[in-house]
Amino acid sequence: MSGLYIHIPFCVRKCGYCDFYSVRASKDSELVQHFIDNLLTEISFKSYLFKNEIVDTVYFGGGTPSFISFSYIERIFSCLTKYYNLNPDLECTIEINPEHATDEYFRQMRSSGFINRLSTGFQAMDDQGLKYLGRNHSVSDNYRYLDLCSKYDFSNFSVDYIFGYETLENKEIERSFKIFSDYNIPHISAYSLGIEDNTPFAKKLASGIIHRPDDDFFLQQFKLVHNLLESFGYQHYEISNYSLPGMYSRHNSNYWDFVPYLGFGPSAHSFYNNSRSWNARKLVDYSKQISEKQLYTENEILNQDDNFNEYVMLKFRTFKGVDISCLKSRFPKYFDHFMKILHRKDLVDYFDFTDDYVKLTLDGIFISDYIISEFFV
Ligand code: SF4
Repeated sequence: MSGLYIHIPFCVRKCGYCDFYSVRASKDSELVQHFIDNLLTEISFKSYLFKNEIVDTVYFGGGTPSFISFSYIERIFSCLTKYYNLNPDLECTIEINPEHATDEYFRQMRSSGFINRLSTGFQAMDDQGLKYLGRNHSVSDNYRYLDLCSKYDFSNFSVDYIFGYETLENKEIERSFKIFSDYNIPHISAYSLGIEDNTPFAKKLASGIIHRPDDDFFLQQFKLVHNLLESFGYQHYEISNYSLPGMYSRHNSNYWDFVPYLGFGPSAHSFYNNSRSWNARKLVDYSKQISEKQLYTENEILNQDDNFNEYVMLKFRTFKGVDISCLKSRFPKYFDHFMKILHRKDLVDYFDFTDDYVKLTLDGIFISDYIISEFFV
């Protein structure tokens, strides 16, 4: 089992909070065409790494895959079918921005026959929220997207939502999630707003145009989102991800299960043979890397400490948590250390113990970065 990730690094403009790598471009410009040529080269060039792998999931992310013509997505997929062993039961996801949800785009996706899962960033269900977040679409685009999913029979799709910003009121969160439930949206990713360095929001924060709410505000909205989603029948299967029964993302779940994957495009990461590697982040450096037939820019072989740290980090992100027996047999050297941290007085209340598993409580999830880092060796 393995996965493939394709990073399409173009956006119409930058959203206020976003630190994913993307550049502005004109639709289907020479820059885009040149990038696609390089991407196809990279896909063929790296195929020997997965010659014995069955690919279970493909994910077109970005940036904005729906910014480029769908015919490019078809070319990329046809290159994947040529060089990789794709599972007949492939999960193939594409990210679509709501403003690109047109009848023609959905018709093309449906007739392609290979796209079977969609993911989109609604982020808010009110125009005031969308404006605050610096999104390039309106709520009417969100509704059109939902109508097109139904018209073209895409029943497996995900919607992203952002909470935890100063102008967002609880009643708006309640209204939004009621709409999501009424539309029977099968998968929801809910993120609290983080302000990363070098984003437009970081500048606005520094100059006092926006303000960061306090931790109580974040925690209270996080719990509200969680309780609403659970009351509507969603399962909380990872820190930020909720799905109706059986509708979880196979692609993302594979990351948390250490399934190997290859990433293509600028800034894409790969993981195989116990090593992680990164492509160049900038498009110009990536193009150079590909023309020189370089596999990646950086590579890190994971040692035993790294493997333990990754195991704890990824497993605590999931709703099941850490299987204690499994951890003991896989990492006997670190078992005593793990148990010692688990029972530390200042941390023990942040854990839930069920049978042989330990997972984070809701309060624990809220400070998960800190708790997980305490286990690191
Ligand atoms: S959030 Fe999405 S659309 Fe907005 S800048 Fe980032 S990648 Fe582009």
